[in-house]
Amino acid sequence: MRVRKEIMGVGFDDLTLEEAVAVGETLAAGPDFSYVVTPNPEIVNMARQSPDYQRVINQAALVLPDGIGVIHAGRILGTPLKERVPGIDFAAGLLTRMAQTGGRLFLLGAKPGVAEQAGQRLCEQYPGLCLCGTHHGYFTDDAAVVQTIRQAQPDVVFVCLGAPKQELWMARFGPETGAHLMAGLGGVLDVFAGNVKRAPQAWQKLGLEWCYRLLHQPSRLGRMAKLPLFLVSAAREKGRREKA
Ligand code: UDP
Repeated sequence: MRVRKEIMGVGFDDLTLEEAVAVGETLAAGPDFSYVVTPNPEIVNMARQSPDYQRVINQAALVLPDGIGVIHAGRILGTPLKERVPGIDFAAGLLTRMAQTGGRLFLLGAKPGVAEQAGQRLCEQYPGLCLCGTHHGYFTDDAAVVQTIRQAQPDVVFVCLGAPKQELWMARFGPETGAHLMAGLGGVLDVFAGNVKRAPQAWQKLGLEWCYRLLHQPSRLGRMAKLPLFLVSAAREKGRREKA
């Protein structure tokens, strides 16, 4: 029985990375369609402003805390989670298992050429993995993309269109694609393609990955400036609950 812990309106699965990958593997092997979301504070904030988006997030089969801000908010609210489960680490764990079983992967998202480049590198890194198709993320014809995925017959699709587009797309079109598992993973194709570098492990362990990204992509400052406010909102929420 899995435990979901509510943090600012989003129910997070309280799992370690390893546990989350095991659940993902089971879902990918199952007969039905499921999708995984990896909310960071930005996504949680968007969900707080849109009941429809919040529903899409909470109806995911796996809701993983991607972002140290979510972990801090959980502590503040008295609903601590076991650990941060970054989407990219979840994806890497799943790829390791898929390489062992010959699982079929489709990559959707990012600028033209990036998914192909990411796919090529992943096949080198995970021999045994079957890359069955790719498509860039700047399309207007949803039905055509659904059809392309359907024909490729993937077990797993990494959907990297940015939030909230990727979550809404998975919930709306995922079941029509015939895929078993979709995961909304933001900018990971840019990292897998080698175009964007991830923070060194020491920074990740210190919970400073956001800081590294900011130093390398200063244009993210506007988005990240909202993060401290997220923790202030969590503290206020805690205060409100204590009064009630
Ligand atoms: N993207 C896309 N289609 C769009 C908008 C964005 O494929 O219509 C891609 C974009 O090229 C990038 C990813 O979605 O690869 C979003 O990256 P971002 O850094 O915003 O995501 P994060 O990792 O912060 O969630």
